[in-house]
Amino acid sequence: MRTHNVAVIPGDGIGTEVIGAGKKVLEALAKKNGDFTFNFEEFDWSSQRYLDQGQYIPEGGLEKLATFDAIYFGAVGSQQVPDHISLWELRLAICQGFDQYANVRPARVLPGVNSRLQHADKIDWVIIRENSEGEYSGNGGRVHRGLPDEVATEVSIFSRKGIERIHRFAFEMAQSRPRKQLTLVTKSNAQRHGMVLWDEIFFEVAKEYPDVSIDRELVDAVTTRMVLKPETLDVVVATNLHADILSDLAAALSGSLGIAPTANLNPERQFPSMFEPIHGSAFDIAGQGIANPVGSFWTAVMMLEHLGEQLAAERLMAAIERLTASGLQTKDLGGTATTHDVTLAICSDIESQA
Ligand code: NAD
Ligand code: MN
Repeated sequence: MRTHNVAVIPGDGIGTEVIGAGKKVLEALAKKNGDFTFNFEEFDWSSQRYLDQGQYIPEGGLEKLATFDAIYFGAVGSQQVPDHISLWELRLAICQGFDQYANVRPARVLPGVNSRLQHADKIDWVIIRENSEGEYSGNGGRVHRGLPDEVATEVSIFSRKGIERIHRFAFEMAQSRPRKQLTLVTKSNAQRHGMVLWDEIFFEVAKEYPDVSIDRELVDAVTTRMVLKPETLDVVVATNLHADILSDLAAALSGSLGIAPTANLNPERQFPSMFEPIHGSAFDIAGQGIANPVGSFWTAVMMLEHLGEQLAAERLMAAIERLTASGLQTKDLGGTATTHDVTLAICSDIESQA
């Protein structure tokens, strides 16, 4: 019997609701498979903890977290804490602390889900977001206050090492997919230092992957291509900020923010990787029991793949697709089902499968 030690950080708002749902589904799956189990340990690292005790992550927290096989994360964000504090003190502290430099965001329209986009069935993308440097590296920026004209700087740092490793990761991803196509997205016409280095290194690394077909696009132009010619994209690699924005667009085009998953990977496996739905804590629907848990289920598929449970991952993805196809959908997809209804349905589907 294989045991997977998973640290669970539900966080805030609907993060706690969808991660609770995801855990139930993972338990049902492990029971059905019969040859592995989860050892879940829950961490109360949330905005409430920050408000009560002044810290999201207690002393020694990251060291403790480092001993797990994977991290299953909900969302963080509260109306009582500025967003830049919750983001940097919890989520980015983990991503950066564990060098989770490759952020993987698949986007695809699941059966039965309606997209606003006419040719949404053509969407089958993986967006690779550089997750350790650039606009979110947090170094060097300042607000110069006290003068009549206040000035703020936001420094984005890119290194050859950081660029090279994300490009290589993206090429490997493209190579593993049927179409083997990779689009480089930058903004090297306006951002003429970091982005130029991104472009240069991309074409260097490309030489090692002659079987991958490549092209490049500016970030503004690629948004129109995503909407107007979705079938022309496969794998996309972009910086932290650019890919953050593109992946929310991708999620909306494929039906709802409530469906999309993401993995923050430390590909060398020196540290645990973290898996989370891409949405936030959703103040407007938190506590109502109507959050769409599908994003947390798809996230669980990515976590299972990472843990080497390929069969269980395929089983869960198939169950998710039967679920969305069945029309049992939450409000964000136009249905009336609750988080609980959807969770119950997928658990009984998993239990009843041969
Ligand atoms: P959000 O993703 O929380 O919500 C955006 C909209 O999408 C809302 O209308 C919400 O109801 C809807 N939505 C999101 N997930 C849904 C789901 N599973 N089911 C149904 N509807 C869903 O983004 P926001 O409103 O910009 O941010 C709210 C808070 O979350 C902020 O504090 C923000 O900083 C934080 N946030 C955290 C993360 C994270 O932890 N990774 C990501 C994004 C935002
Ligand atoms: Mn985002």
